[in-house]
Formats: sequence, C-alpha cells, structure tokens
Amino acid sequence: MWQLIGQRRAVSLLQQSLKAGRLAHAYLLAGPAHVGKMTLAIKLAQALNCEASEEKPCLECNACQKIAAGRHADVQVIGLLQKENDTEFKVITIEQVKDVLHMASLPPFEGKHKVFIIDGAELLSPDAANCLLKTLEEPEARVTFILLTTNDRLLLPTVVSRCQRLELTPLPIREEVEALVANSKIEPERARLLAGLSHGCPGWALAAAQDESTLQNRNEEIVQIAGAIDGDLEGRFEYIDKLANGFSKDRGAVYETLDRWLDYWRDLLLIKLGSEATVTNIDRRQELAATAGGYRITQIKDCIESIRRTAEMLKQNVNTRLALEVMMLDIPTKGGGAKNG
Ligand SMILES: [Zn+2]
Repeated sequence: MWQLIGQRRAVSLLQQSLKAGRLAHAYLLAGPAHVGKMTLAIKLAQALNCEASEEKPCLECNACQKIAAGRHADVQVIGLLQKENDTEFKVITIEQVKDVLHMASLPPFEGKHKVFIIDGAELLSPDAANCLLKTLEEPEARVTFILLTTNDRLLLPTVVSRCQRLELTPLPIREEVEALVANSKIEPERARLLAGLSHGCPGWALAAAQDESTLQNRNEEIVQIAGAIDGDLEGRFEYIDKLANGFSKDRGAVYETLDRWLDYWRDLLLIKLGSEATVTNIDRRQELAATAGGYRITQIKDCIESIRRTAEMLKQNVNTRLALEVMMLDIPTKGGGAKNG
C-alpha cells in the first residue's frame, strides 16, 4: 500500500519496524531532489495514523486522506518560510524549531501519532539544529521526526547520529519507465524521455508529465545549448552573459542548466561509443549524432570534465561569469575534430 516508485529497501525496512513496533524516533531520509523523500515521509505519517486494522497505510481512511491533503493537525511539514528565488543562503530558523518542539510536547490532537517532517534539514540554522538536537536526545512518546535532505554532509554530525538514516537512491531508468507506464499511464516513448531527463528521480518525471511547461523549458534550453555549441565565440559569450546574469537571481536554475550541458555532452560520448539507446535526450538523437561527428572522443571527455569542474566552482562562490567563460572556451569549436577519433 505504500505506492512508492522504487525505494523497496527503505519501504521494507519501515514496514518491518512498524510491524514490530520498533520505529526510530527520528529518521533522516537522504537522497537527490525528486527521488521520493517527501512521498515516503508522508506514507510513514499515514501508516502511523491510519485507522485501518491492517495493511497500513490504507490511503482511504479519514486520517490517510487528511494527511495526503496536508490537512491533518498531527502531521506538519517544516521548511523554508518563504521560497524566494535564491534559497541558498536562507535558513530554517530557531523560532520555527521552537514552535515545533512546543507542539511536540502536546499529545496528538486528532490522530495517534505526531509526525514532524523537516524538509531541507541541511537548511537548519546552527541554533535551530542544536535546539532540535536536545529533543532528539530525549524523544517524546508518539512523536516522530523525519528529516529530509539532499546533502547530509551539511547537517550537524550530532543530529545525523540521532537519526536512523535511510538513503534513497535514483532508480534504474528501465525500472522508472516501467513504473511511469504502469502506474501513471504515460505512453512508453514519453515515459522513456521523462525518466531519462529525471535521472531516475520519478518526482521530476511525474511533475513534468502533468505540467507541459517543464518540458517546454527544457526544450528551449536544449536549443540554446545546441546553438551555443554550433555558434561562434560572440554568440557563446552572449549566451554566457545571460546565464551569469541569471545566477544572482536563481542559482538553482543555473545548476540545472549545467546539468543539461552535462547530459548533452554525455549523450555525445554515448553516441561516439555506440550506445545510442542509452542517451538522455532521446528525442534529439539525430541532432546529437550530427554534432558527435564533429568531435573526437578525447575532446568530448575534456568538455564533460570542464562542465563538471565549473559546476563545482560555482558552488564555491567563485566569479560566476569568469568560471562560465572559461568553460565556454574549453568547448572546442566545430571542425577541429576528426570523424573517427
Ligand atoms: Zn488509512
């Protein structure tokens, strides 16, 4: 009844603990964005409050439905108060954590078990994390904390050590395609494209299946990337100019753009190596094949390395424009490569 795409190991561990009545007081769900952390946390909250006699969560009882709709008084999600464009330097505050701890000290209002889901636990301010730590050290009965994070290295080690850690890993693409086709009735070719673009994180694929603009944005981005690769230096620097300007407003979007660059060059490499079936941008195979013809394998590998390095550097607050310009200079202009490299 957990209806989660993938993550069988984590689900079966939680099921066994529930059955044996040996749940931890705090869990840390670690994994990339859209892999299913929030979905799993909600299912656990439902299982803990479900009114059915067995097979919990039933997903049909009053408690299960209220939790799914975000309207259950005993299940709360805590995250950044305001999602502004640049969330990187925002934190979950100590005031938010104090509110949570106060609520945790009261008995459940309407259900059986209180669940507090902290979304983006790596964003807890040091004060907030220390405050939470005290409660994790002396847990209340009938209270479970579920911390979600994309990067648990950014959490206080003392907080991590108080939680049972469950790692959620991206699915193999084939498994994700099967699930998208079977559960969500997405047509196979489209499911393959979405699964590839989501890198095994089904939340992204499901969102994109529902919102056409996600794929549209990606299409525009790929056109721009292909244009920059094909273009002259002037065109490339215009492109970088736009990207660098966007960085101050929305870092996340620029990281995503660099991921698209990586996908594109990895695809070129795969085509060079004769593994066309495994490319990410399957709807652009012809264009990729034509582009791949203009480069040697070593050039493509160097580009991939350069893009990776640039993404790492941007996370370390270097001069954004300079880093992106260097990356662009590392990308060879066409015609410099042999056909059979
Ligand atoms: Zn239920």
